Amino acid sequence: MKQSILVVNCGSSSLKLALFDETDQQLASATAERLNGKDAFARIEGDNRTVALPASADHKQALQALISTLRERQLMPAIPASIGHRVVHGGETFREAALIDDDVVAAIDECAGLAPLHNPVNVVGIEATRDLFPDVPQVAVFDTAYHQTLAPRAYLYAVPQAFYHDWSVRRYGFHGTSHFFMANEAARRLGKTLATTSIISAHLGNGCSITAIRDGLSVDTSMGLTPLEGLVMGTRSGDIDPGLFDYLASRGIPLAEVHKILNHKSGLLGISGQTNDMRALCELADHGHEPSALAIEIFCFRLAKYVGAMMASLRHLDALVFTGGIGENSDRVREKTLEHLGLLGFTIDPDMNEHHGRYSDGRIDHADSRFPVLVIPTNEELVIAREARRLAATL
Ligand code: ADP
Repeated sequence: MKQSILVVNCGSSSLKLALFDETDQQLASATAERLNGKDAFARIEGDNRTVALPASADHKQALQALISTLRERQLMPAIPASIGHRVVHGGETFREAALIDDDVVAAIDECAGLAPLHNPVNVVGIEATRDLFPDVPQVAVFDTAYHQTLAPRAYLYAVPQAFYHDWSVRRYGFHGTSHFFMANEAARRLGKTLATTSIISAHLGNGCSITAIRDGLSVDTSMGLTPLEGLVMGTRSGDIDPGLFDYLASRGIPLAEVHKILNHKSGLLGISGQTNDMRALCELADHGHEPSALAIEIFCFRLAKYVGAMMASLRHLDALVFTGGIGENSDRVREKTLEHLGLLGFTIDPDMNEHHGRYSDGRIDHADSRFPVLVIPTNEELVIAREARRLAATL
């Protein structure tokens, strides 16, 4: 356990910890949710005992409570060998993971304007573990960094370029750690090297994004300046006509309200009027609830359109890859999406699709499909642990 690596992922109101050994085995994981609220709670995976939290615990208090409980229960060593932090926004400053020092923390803070809900709590997590483990190397791994290889034609918006030069307005893209994991894992499963692998990676969870990866590098992605652009998501609209802002303003809806609607009341929730949960939507649709069936329909159609769009960035395609809670588990979403893509030559095997490709290393394509189609469970924490170990070894 001496060489264990601690991974810290602070979300806007949640905290996830994972502990890996030097052979990539996960040793333990723990979560805290609803932080800063009256019903904040924390638990350690696979352990029914409660973890005591102060009332309305914040990220720092939850981190301290979970770490001391993990140590007490001998699930983690007194001192980990290195620590990796998930950081949402690295702007254009971070093209790859970085060893954390005061300058890096200040630079992460500077990117907070681009991710106000996330970067500040990421910094809280970093400061808390630096206090607890002052001598342990710590590494920041950015959701945006993998997409820094996009060319200007893919990352610039067709707006006055002063917006980019003065205010950093451009496509950044997110879920980079997951898409990077997909590229590596697809390459491994297809018996190729990363540098020769080109895939389309669809990460479909509560947030959804799709990325074109050419020769191992991200060349286009659906999320933009913020994680609101692109695919239909759980509560986010994805693409809309920017003219909607004007129109809603003319109807008396203030900008802050529009922001709230597009981020928290749209997507699957907005269309169905019931839930943002794909599993629940499938059940509702099966019981004849038409708005839920429509939500699934729109979700899959938008996704199929984006698969087609991502082809424009590739010279060849080794596989279309599905991941995230929906991508990994919903055979219905995969099937409905690929129904739209027959013209491009995608066909899937219904039996393999239903069994999530469990008997074929994730492959769900039919023998006559022009391209392989894969289902791969993502593991962002593992990527962060590997980066922490890699960079700590350079010291
Ligand atoms: P997050 O982005 O919060 O990490 P996840 O990757 O866990 O989210 O994905 C959550 C989504 O996955 C939810 O919409 C959930 O309903 C969906 N999901 C999980 N299991 C299934 C399933 N068996 N069938 C359909 N959807 C599923």
